Amino acid sequence: MNSDFLPAAEPVLRLIEQLHKLPGIGPKSAQRLTYYLVRMPSEEVRALAEAMLAVKERITFCSRCQNVTERDPCSLCTDPRRDATAICVVEEPLDVLAIERTHSYRGLYHVLHGVLSPMNNVGPQDLRIAQLLERLKGSQVAEVILATNPGLEGEATAMYLHRLIGGLTPRVTRLARGLPAGGDLEYADDVTLTHALQGRQPF
Ligand SMILES: [Zn+2]
Repeated sequence: MNSDFLPAAEPVLRLIEQLHKLPGIGPKSAQRLTYYLVRMPSEEVRALAEAMLAVKERITFCSRCQNVTERDPCSLCTDPRRDATAICVVEEPLDVLAIERTHSYRGLYHVLHGVLSPMNNVGPQDLRIAQLLERLKGSQVAEVILATNPGLEGEATAMYLHRLIGGLTPRVTRLARGLPAGGDLEYADDVTLTHALQGRQPF
């Protein structure tokens, strides 16, 4: 970004630069957000800054499902009402929220934190795949649901995982079609997602 030519004070330029690093925030949005923050009441800006720091200081990853949590293991993994024989593998923590919203799944989760993407230099070692294999070894898990997104990278990741875990678990399934092709789970409506879960197919 060419912020050198903006006639702005140093703290303003610094914030624009920091916001610009966030996903989906282009130079224009970074500038708009920065000037919005300049006009916001101090206490609101402070609350925002504190909330951002709190996610870094208080949030960690669950050693079992790899989801973000304040407590390790997380409340889902330690809930005795959950069905520990099923693991639903998703790309992001937001996907867990999307599936939980449907109230149609009672098993556990595993969050990969991304998908395989050769174009973006994301390989198996960058995802929480080793932790998934570790979880499955000698476990009572009877079904692994591969719930990566239906796009190219999500499909490739599901295929890769299927090859790896095929021998470790009796049943590997994939969410049914009906999810918008190329769409993300987190944006699917509850009904579509519920149907996709109920109609899951052996992989
Ligand atoms: Zn967990």
